Amino acid sequence: MRTKQFKAESKKLLDLMINSIYTHKEIFLRELISNASDAMDKLYYQSLSNNSGGLNRSELKIRIEIDKDSRVLKISDNGCGMTRDELENNLGTIAKSGSLEFKSENEKVEDVDIIGQFGVGFYSAFMVSDKVVVESKAIDGGEAFVWTSRGAEGYTIEPCEKDDNGTSVILHIKEKTDDENYDEFLDEYEIKRIVRKYSDYIRYPIVMDVETRKLKEGTEDEFETIIEEQTLNSMVPIWKKNKSEVTEDEYLSFYKDKFFDYEEPARIIHSKTEGSATYSALIYIPIHAPYDYYTREYEKGLQLYSSGVMIMEKCADLIPDHFSFAKGLVDSEDLSLNISREMLQHDRQLRIIAKSLEKKVGSELKKLLTEDRDKYEKFFKAFGLQLKFGVYDKFGLHKDSLKDLILFVSSNEKKLVSLGEYVGRMKDEQKAIYYACGETVDKIEMLPQSEIVRDKGYEILYLTENVDEFALKMLDEYDGKKFANICADELDLGSDDEKEKLKEKNESSKDLLGHMGESLGGKVKSVRFTNKLKNHPVCLTSEGNLSVEMEKVINAMPSDEKVKAQIILEINDSHPIAAKLEELFEADKDKVSEYAEILYAQARLIEGLQVDNPSELCGLVCKLMTD
Ligand code: ADP
Repeated sequence: MRTKQFKAESKKLLDLMINSIYTHKEIFLRELISNASDAMDKLYYQSLSNNSGGLNRSELKIRIEIDKDSRVLKISDNGCGMTRDELENNLGTIAKSGSLEFKSENEKVEDVDIIGQFGVGFYSAFMVSDKVVVESKAIDGGEAFVWTSRGAEGYTIEPCEKDDNGTSVILHIKEKTDDENYDEFLDEYEIKRIVRKYSDYIRYPIVMDVETRKLKEGTEDEFETIIEEQTLNSMVPIWKKNKSEVTEDEYLSFYKDKFFDYEEPARIIHSKTEGSATYSALIYIPIHAPYDYYTREYEKGLQLYSSGVMIMEKCADLIPDHFSFAKGLVDSEDLSLNISREMLQHDRQLRIIAKSLEKKVGSELKKLLTEDRDKYEKFFKAFGLQLKFGVYDKFGLHKDSLKDLILFVSSNEKKLVSLGEYVGRMKDEQKAIYYACGETVDKIEMLPQSEIVRDKGYEILYLTENVDEFALKMLDEYDGKKFANICADELDLGSDDEKEKLKEKNESSKDLLGHMGESLGGKVKSVRFTNKLKNHPVCLTSEGNLSVEMEKVINAMPSDEKVKAQIILEINDSHPIAAKLEELFEADKDKVSEYAEILYAQARLIEGLQVDNPSELCGLVCKLMTD
């Protein structure tokens, strides 16, 4: 008989499990029971979908047996079972490729729920066993097989005798060592406790033969010891219970088990609703994004149950895109068991449920924002981008319900602020909600235009994500206050007097500015003096709706259609360069053209844009230096 090797990742994980210093070793039982329950779900689901009937749900059971003398703990189910190939593929490899990124050897494993993180339940058996035997017979008939492994060295698969379909996992519990005692996993009371703690909600009976002393029938004081099958779990799904009956631990354990997250969620929403639609929902809002969240591979959706039986693993119609991070389930009696996907889409009940869930998630997030700011910010770092997309998406259809959930870093201490907070501390004379765009907060702070706005004591929102400005444009205003890009040409900060003076200056320097504009060809729409710069000589602003940042974002998208912002080169009217230009214009117009090129290139560099022709620019600068 040949011993097969585990695939590389599986072997690594196995090593991790065997040598684990993980403190909650007892969760191996939860994992094996969940697998058994899934296998019975599969069987039941198959029998429903091929209408074979014949299957009686009440016959499905998970059985636990303890043999203290031979140190064996056995967990059996009469679910779908596994064929030889399935044993090989499911237990010899870790199926969830891609999601696996192993912790480096020296990283601590204690503080992370590695098991939940990888979703590799079965292997946890090796935390407590030195040998694991899996006997299985698939429902589709055929032979039974036994898979045996002592851990890292490999496994064997051979035919075996087994009467009924299903799987038995036989654990040979490790001997006690100096620092670890595994005997508790052979103790009836302990097993009962662990089952109740982690697997109470499992909807199939988890049974165990238990010795009990009972009054002998017909007598009043004679006892006899009988062996009785006891069901260890209450079988009421957690979401059907009242909130007061469910402990925090149970909610969390259920979450980690079902949704493979190693971190506690940011928020748990458990609700039972009656009215136009009757349903129970248990929704978790994760605190960190799954590795594939912002990719096409990510599939949103909630599990859908009809009277306690799962009818769909991921029902996308239950949750809108902007809350696609939500995990959880909905159970409704109003839905038919045999409902198809197409029918569901048009189901009125389902739409009512989805609408009410959307409201609940929205209001829970608002609550989180006010009640636990730190947690909300952590959540926002993971999913804020999705919320901002939500503001912009569908032509702003959901913007009103999302506008209070989005945050931006602002010039005020460089912390995250909500739009409500910003408006709440606006200065009396402040006309707009100011914002600026750039790749990073530091780069935005260096924008020449930001200096004077900050000097006036106005807060600036720093927009660093591509979607940010599009979202604000979609909002258009918040609480009656318009948004204003500090790099837009119409930024209106000065007094009437200052404006008048500037207008005069631009008027009297018309020829100079016109000449500069002409020398720059089509690169800018015009050149003008400005009073909104403090120390910097120049800046670029944009006219109209399309900002320089938006131009960058749109042109980076894979489309043939390129756009061009209407760019204006603005020169600081109080900078020495302004006087120098006036002076030169009288003496040497060609030189003014060269200056225009250099100033334009400087402005681009400050904006974080590339210069069109770097070598030409260097040539011009050198010429100036050597003149
Ligand atoms: P997961 O349950 O997260 O998929 P596991 O390592 O626990 O990962 O199990 C791997 C696979 O082995 C399962 O997806 C399932 O297909 C199969 N399996 C495990 N236990 C059983 C069982 N009791 N009956 C049938 N199949 C099982």
